[in-house]
Amino acid sequence: MSSEVIHEVSEQRSRNMSAIKSKNTKPEIAVRKILHSMGYRFRLHRKDLPGSPDIVLPKYKTVIFVHGCFWHRHENCKYASTPKTRKEFWESKFKANVKRDKEIQEKIKNIGWQSVVFWECEIKNEKIKDKLLEIKNY
Ligand SMILES: [Zn+2]
Repeated sequence: MSSEVIHEVSEQRSRNMSAIKSKNTKPEIAVRKILHSMGYRFRLHRKDLPGSPDIVLPKYKTVIFVHGCFWHRHENCKYASTPKTRKEFWESKFKANVKRDKEIQEKIKNIGWQSVVFWECEIKNEKIKDKLLEIKNY
């Protein structure tokens, strides 16, 4: 999806849409800033790893996926609502996304790497800093 298209849909929607396929989304850039400030070295969009992860920390053999709560179904999250119309359509779409995420995480694990998911809603607060400190202990 092109950025021009994204700008035409509502803000909430564009946030959701951009979260699934686009690179360099706002939450992703926020995560990179935090990584920088904490002194992590990272690479972006490594196509040679399963799911071409958003952010890769080679030193810790860790990949970070920045997931939008809506599309990737963050459990018990207020942003992971289901639209009231075309419920079945959305549910099958969500199911496919979650399945795909699981498969990618499984593949990452099978090659001896660790994958960490940063949810869009966590990025605004300090939660991801704790998650990052855990990576260092891996
Ligand atoms: Zn969330």
